[in-house]
Amino acid sequence: MKKYDYFVIGAGPAGVAASYVLSKAGYRVALLEAHNALAMKPCGNGLVRMEDIPFPIPRSALKVRIRRGLLYVDGQLAVEIKDVVDGFIIDKREMLEELIASSGTFLFLKSHFNPLRIEIKLNNERLKLESFSNLILAGGHAFYEGEKIFAVETSLRPKFEIEDDKIEIWFDTKLIGYYWVFPEEDGKVQVGVGGYSSPSKLKRMLLKFIKRDERLSSNSLGNVRGAPLAVGGVTLKRYKDRIHRIGESAGYVLPLTGEGIRPSILSGYVFAKSMIESRDPVKALRSLNITRAIAIQRSILKRVKEMDLHRRRELLSSIPPEVHAEVALGTLRKSRIVKALAKNPRLLSSILKFIT
Ligand SMILES: Cc1cc2nc3c(=O)[nH]c(=O)nc-3n(C[C@H](O)[C@H](O)[C@H](O)COP(=O)(O)OP(=O)(O)OC[C@H]3O[C@@H](n4cnc5c(N)ncnc54)[C@H](O)[C@@H]3O)c2cc1C
Repeated sequence: MKKYDYFVIGAGPAGVAASYVLSKAGYRVALLEAHNALAMKPCGNGLVRMEDIPFPIPRSALKVRIRRGLLYVDGQLAVEIKDVVDGFIIDKREMLEELIASSGTFLFLKSHFNPLRIEIKLNNERLKLESFSNLILAGGHAFYEGEKIFAVETSLRPKFEIEDDKIEIWFDTKLIGYYWVFPEEDGKVQVGVGGYSSPSKLKRMLLKFIKRDERLSSNSLGNVRGAPLAVGGVTLKRYKDRIHRIGESAGYVLPLTGEGIRPSILSGYVFAKSMIESRDPVKALRSLNITRAIAIQRSILKRVKEMDLHRRRELLSSIPPEVHAEVALGTLRKSRIVKALAKNPRLLSSILKFIT
């Protein structure tokens, strides 16, 4: 036990980011992963903005470059975002493994944290925790108590070529959710859907969506896999009042788009930095731009959920492209939003209510 300065639970983007920073600073970090391999959870692997990622993502993990994002609302193209999308479809496992290896973090597979007994099992050995100050919880959605939706995805090789420099997000106002079409390596695409419905219904909806779009016609449809997704916003309350959380376990997911890799990395990075610098980690997380962006998306989602279908459609279709882009990426620059809505003061004031 004394061998390690920190125990990090969960080797996803959040846990690996925190371990990377702490290990690089000279701390001995034990990173525990319940599975026997990394990145087992289904994920679209889209990292749409590299700009705010605080450390280099290993080149070998960058698979397909993304320069455009197409947003559709109920089947109609709402906006093509070009200037702020500059990201990649990544190989998540490769990224996590490389970051672990290059930082000197001690990774323990098939090792886990038991939340009932509040103890950890490392290499089959049970460890009683003397203190919780060096324990960081990054175990993902399972440790998040707020609102969750479900998301499912599959991979296919379309018969017709689909341009691979773009991602597509198809908002569905009835579902209050979205489909996505992301490129993969070797001409394959990943298609998924997340929203307020049951896993089995989402699966049926996904298969229908694929069938409807002739571009996605394929002879090689993969398995449909899914997982819950935290959309209830950030909570900086400690788990069981004792253990600090980062990443999706603390709600670091943009609720309107389901983007969780970048927010999780940012939360893990900032948390670890604040530990190294003996600053209050909660204050540091609270002041992050991404924490604010998540809060804003959450309040929009909450309001949209309360509206009837007609008002929901009206609102989403009246938002100009620039504002859609700011909201979807979580950049939310007020000046751009004000400029875009200058001719529509009523909509501006209702959008600003979310933002200020
Ligand atoms: C279908 C789907 C598609 C998605 N697509 C995208 C996308 O394209 N882009 C994007 O940015 N986000 C996407 N997301 C969201 C993203 O996957 C997550 O938000 C992100 O991975 C969260 O990172 P994390 O490190 O907090 O948690 P996770 O990635 O969930 O990692 C947590 C780790 O902890 C381990 N663990 C859990 N419990 C224990 C325990 N008791 N002991 C030890 N280890 C434990 C888990 O096995 C896991 O490896 C998607 C989500 C879903 C469901």
